[in-house]
Amino acid sequence: MYILIVEDERRLAQVVRKVLEEEGHTVDVAHDGEDGLAMAMDGSHDVIVLDILLPGIDGIEVSQRLRAGRVDTPILLLTALNAVDDRVRGLDAGADDYLPKPFAFQELLARLRALGRRRVQAREPDTIQTADLVLDLRRRRAERAGKTIELSPKEFALLEFLLRNEGRVVTRSQILDHVWGYDYSPDSNLVDVYVTYLRRKVDRGHKRSLIRTVRGAGYALGD
Ligand code: CA
Repeated sequence: MYILIVEDERRLAQVVRKVLEEEGHTVDVAHDGEDGLAMAMDGSHDVIVLDILLPGIDGIEVSQRLRAGRVDTPILLLTALNAVDDRVRGLDAGADDYLPKPFAFQELLARLRALGRRRVQAREPDTIQTADLVLDLRRRRAERAGKTIELSPKEFALLEFLLRNEGRVVTRSQILDHVWGYDYSPDSNLVDVYVTYLRRKVDRGHKRSLIRTVRGAGYALGD
């Protein structure tokens, strides 16, 4: 994840940064509210860790201004222990969660994971579609021209992969990698067999064929 830490205690900010980077995250640090606000304003971070007690603009005001500016990045507030008022004001100001100081890093990581997951789910659309083909990603259902297409899980995964790469050629080995998740023998005709199944279900009976074979290269969906 791409995480912004806004914390004026430099040592604490440094330690948190190190812990998060060791977990594989990319981290920006700001030491006051104004810098934090400026860095957060483009909405590019997945999560913001925001201390409440900051010089200049405090964390609550930073939250308010971000929400007023339509930045919806999840915010984890760092509050003083037992500062109930701060927590309530923080949540009212649009923060998503809070963590009292001092905190255990394990707990910080767990909270960030939860907030990050929410973010990813919120970003993910429910459906993807092209022409009259619609895939419902949550229910794992497909339909074309309003009619449900019965697909096995592998067929659905293959169709989803083709649709996500709409207009691009995907090779057999990319498909194997993505849909089956391991190295299958490249000589295997597994992909071709499944594409044949899919064509029968998706294209048969329709004027326009969506799934194309690109000779010597692989397959593509759409024009
Ligand atoms: Ca502080």
